[in-house]
Amino acid sequence: QEPQATATRRVLLPAPRSFCAGVERAIEIVERLLEEHGPPVYVRNQIVHNAHVVADLESRGAVFVGELDEVPDDALVVFSAHGVAPAVEREAAARGLDAVDATCPLVAKVHAEAKRAAEGGDTVILIGHEGHEEVVGTIGVAPDRTLLVESTDEVAALDVPDPARLTYLSQTTLAVTEVETIAEALKRRFPDIKGQGAEDICYATSNRQAAVAAVVDEADLVLVVGSANSSNSNRLVELARNAGVSAHLIEDAAAIDPAWLAGAANVAVTAGASAPPQLVDEVVRSLAALGPIEIVERVHTHETQEFLLPQRLRPSAANRP
Ligand code: SF4
Repeated sequence: QEPQATATRRVLLPAPRSFCAGVERAIEIVERLLEEHGPPVYVRNQIVHNAHVVADLESRGAVFVGELDEVPDDALVVFSAHGVAPAVEREAAARGLDAVDATCPLVAKVHAEAKRAAEGGDTVILIGHEGHEEVVGTIGVAPDRTLLVESTDEVAALDVPDPARLTYLSQTTLAVTEVETIAEALKRRFPDIKGQGAEDICYATSNRQAAVAAVVDEADLVLVVGSANSSNSNRLVELARNAGVSAHLIEDAAAIDPAWLAGAANVAVTAGASAPPQLVDEVVRSLAALGPIEIVERVHTHETQEFLLPQRLRPSAANRP
């Protein structure tokens, strides 16, 4: 137990943090289906990469499965925010499943770019992390024409069918600086490659990174609320550590090790795009329980992005206020 601090600890809250528009939309899709259809509502993969969100929806009747063969015939199934390969959509259709797509529109945009490039005869070079659900889905758009790279070393080792016909894209939740570095390596090795820097990284990922970067020099410790499988949350931890600041990914307030706080007069608390804002509030409350705190909100960017729900879940004209 940390001895009661006499000095006031500053708690820096970089903004934006926590839920993004794509995560809010995906959760709302499952919530509305639970209300309108009633349980069970099957969800292929975690709707978003957060253990609290998944447990909450599970308690209300959502059933999370890894693959469609775990979904009974004629059931309702939701595809998660990370997107699915077209083969999964075809399988659902062939099975007669009632599928609702909660893919974030910004992931869908990358799918559309991959499709366009592959149909135009290009090989797609996807910058991303092997095995991440979004990457599996994006590769699935053109599986025979997509190559995955995770690092500049892998760029050097790439074996492409035609260096003049390449397009690069990226996973939406990577570190902006890392994607820029890999993109530059691609352009050096393949001068004709098409692609736009780190522009596939979504606004939520880049805004959360910029907000942490703006406060990291003032912090002795950075706490990032998020689950271990949340890509954008892990990138926030890396960003702080790369700046030489101690940083930890925590599922919730209970995961805080009091030893981290020894000598930490300035603690920045942020959250990945899939982590609920209440979890940040709980972390702040648990810091307050250890001694006096001063809360300093640091707004880097105001986010106004919203995404429409799928057509079938939008309120009908008659119901609109
Ligand atoms: Fe969409 Fe970005 Fe949020 Fe993922 S993190 S759901 S890509 S807005």
